[in-house]
Amino acid sequence: MLMFLRGARPPSLPAPLPLWPSYRQVRRFCRGVVRAAGAEPPLEVEALCTAVGRLRGRPIEVRYRALPPGMFGFSFAYDKQTRDYVVVAANTTRMHQEHIVLHELGHILAGHIDGEATTAGDHTGDHDAAREREWTAESIAVVLAERALLHTRRFGERPADPGSRALDDALRGGGAWI
Ligand SMILES: [Zn+2]
Repeated sequence: MLMFLRGARPPSLPAPLPLWPSYRQVRRFCRGVVRAAGAEPPLEVEALCTAVGRLRGRPIEVRYRALPPGMFGFSFAYDKQTRDYVVVAANTTRMHQEHIVLHELGHILAGHIDGEATTAGDHTGDHDAAREREWTAESIAVVLAERALLHTRRFGERPADPGSRALDDALRGGGAWI
């Protein structure tokens, strides 16, 4: 609880992104998200969803389902249950599924499903709004995945026990992963 003393606020998600955000804006946004969520590499995508859901005050449920060919996933807000769902193709690789979850999480973080909406239309539509939403969701997914992967490749996975982690942090120079 020490971190919340002296008027410091509890962690919250960063301010919304502008339309067609730049790489720099997406990276700064993602940095704010992982900081608020307390996420570190190796990135556990479902744990990140859980943390983001808690910050949003709406749980995010990830479900794996057989989807029609060419449909990899979508997400939607379910206001009656005050929660959001991410539906992921069950019939693809684990690596692909993780990317789908990050992409859908990108949509959720960008506010694309606020107000009982779904991302299904973005994945079939070819109008400007759908293209912008796809750009933003995919940029968030790529930045999170690439930064986590680069960090894990460079430093290896972090030790689980606190004593080893303190030494590990010192060896890394305290550098942020994103
Ligand atoms: Zn999408």
